[in-house]
Amino acid sequence: MPMTAGRVLDGKAVAQAVRTEVAARVAHLRARGVVPGLAVVLVGDDPASQVYVRNKDKAASEAGFEVRTVRFSATTTQTELERQVEALNADRSVHGILVQLPLPRGLDSGPVIERLDPAKDVDGLTARNVAALWRGEEGLVPCTPAGCLELLDRAGIPLEGRRAVVIGRSQLVGKPLAALLLARNATVTVAHSRSRDLPAIAREAEILVAAVGKAALVRASWIRPGATVLDVGINRLDDGRLCGDVDFHACLPVAGAITPVPGGIGPMTIAMLLANTARAAARSAGLRPEDLAG
Ligand code: NAD
Repeated sequence: MPMTAGRVLDGKAVAQAVRTEVAARVAHLRARGVVPGLAVVLVGDDPASQVYVRNKDKAASEAGFEVRTVRFSATTTQTELERQVEALNADRSVHGILVQLPLPRGLDSGPVIERLDPAKDVDGLTARNVAALWRGEEGLVPCTPAGCLELLDRAGIPLEGRRAVVIGRSQLVGKPLAALLLARNATVTVAHSRSRDLPAIAREAEILVAAVGKAALVRASWIRPGATVLDVGINRLDDGRLCGDVDFHACLPVAGAITPVPGGIGPMTIAMLLANTARAAARSAGLRPEDLAG
């Protein structure tokens, strides 16, 4: 078995490059009189969600967006929440709306998401954007899968004709990522909690993505030597540290390239949120992204 030391894919550095490019696009938009606006809807006081929203707010403000965080208590009603989404839909200063998930128990995210204007749905979760993704039409793509693709592209990892395995089939990550990989002519397998012999499926992968939410689920023996491994998982250990779905240190010597947690897909997700919001703002002004290039 060839044991070439794996290359660590530095999501933080790549995300910074994306953010710098987005900031330039935002400056172009502002010069044309469009101030790109992002609204983040946060319900309840889940500590992880608070941190994510703070990071998104900070990154978007730094890139020149006007950011508004709309906070609701966990006891807010479904009707109130949906009414807020409609108000943001109608607000011309808001180009992107992100509803931070999961919502507290008792609230149904489905109808809230479906209320979003698809043109402002920067997390790409409305039925219209999901359909556009699978049909290969223009739309907004969920940020985490888009971040995975952006990182692979910028790392020069080819996808065409390659065997890709995605572990996890959520609406937010696994399914849209499978669509994106398929659109790039990878041969895609989606594995999940009911898959039989997960290690054997994983070992087929030249590109392996773990998006499960189980600390260190993916072992070194699951990795095909030289494979590219993307770790989407974010798990908090008892000692407070963050850990991915992949046993990073064990897999590093086997993999050809691998993302760390933290510092891998997480920062890419935020960068793609900014890219999506800039794109939504440009479209609202009748501009194409290429109109904003340098
Ligand atoms: P989810 O709970 O909606 O989906 C998890 C998926 O994993 C399911 O499809 C399920 O079938 C599968 N699964 C569960 N147990 C399994 C097992 N033992 N073996 C194989 N498959 C199994 O989660 P999600 O929203 O897709 O998120 C997955 C992970 O990614 C979580 O840790 C989440 O925190 C993280 N996440 C990270 C980012 C980021 O920016 N890096 C963004 C979104 C989610």
